[in-house]
Amino acid sequence: MNCYKHEDCHDIAVCAICGTGLCKVCENETTYRKNKRALCKKCNYNYGVEIEENYKLQSGKKTAVIIINAVFIIIGLVIFIINKFDLTGAIIMLACWCFGSYISSFFDNTVTTKNNKNSESIFSGPIQIIIAKVIGSLLGLILKLIIRAIFAPVLIIANFLGKIKIDRLIADNKIILEKIKV
Ligand SMILES: [Zn+2]
Ligand SMILES: [Zn+2]
Repeated sequence: MNCYKHEDCHDIAVCAICGTGLCKVCENETTYRKNKRALCKKCNYNYGVEIEENYKLQSGKKTAVIIINAVFIIIGLVIFIINKFDLTGAIIMLACWCFGSYISSFFDNTVTTKNNKNSESIFSGPIQIIIAKVIGSLLGLILKLIIRAIFAPVLIIANFLGKIKIDRLIADNKIILEKIKV
């Protein structure tokens, strides 16, 4: 098979998507690679568009995380102020922050929590140990919730920085796409 573009050149590779022949020059000049393999002109463009859509999806998810956390942080703060900065207000505020950060975790693929390893039941052993375990896991749960609540502002900053980075990638990709437009 000969190169799809340079008809007198023998192919040394094939496009990773459509399987058309690519000569050495075309193999070298590919803009994108799929699984480290070169692409023809048309597939380069389509692949670039696909990458852009993927980036946009990620950027949108980060916006969602920012908005959700910001809304719940503000609601929490307002409740805290209405309660004149008392303990009840503080607890409700943290609960709001925690809830926001939990809801937003469905959109967040930067922080993935995989802690299903310890599936050992807390209800095994003598009664004293069970009580200790229940209190321990309750404290653990409260601690986890507090950490999650405090994490809400961190999530906003992290996702904001991540979004800036992705939006820059989208802009760079747009320039590349413009150059290889068919
Ligand atoms: Zn192709
Ligand atoms: Zn070629």
